[in-house]
Amino acid sequence: MTHEDDIESIEKEMLEELKKPPGRRILVCPVCGSTDVTYYMGLKMGYQYQCKSCNYVGALVLEEDVTL
Ligand SMILES: [Zn+2]
Repeated sequence: MTHEDDIESIEKEMLEELKKPPGRRILVCPVCGSTDVTYYMGLKMGYQYQCKSCNYVGALVLEEDVTL
């Protein structure tokens, strides 16, 4: 598999992600494991996440699939 094929498959995966109905994934704090994570707008850093439980703020956040 060439590098270009890799990029293509990644793009395909991202498109598949967009097709999924919203609300199937929840954000999980990587520090305390709380699911009380919201989007946090950084000034120059772009968007980040904020955990309401431990006040963690960062771009790294875990995502979990929610099976309803
Ligand atoms: Zn936390």
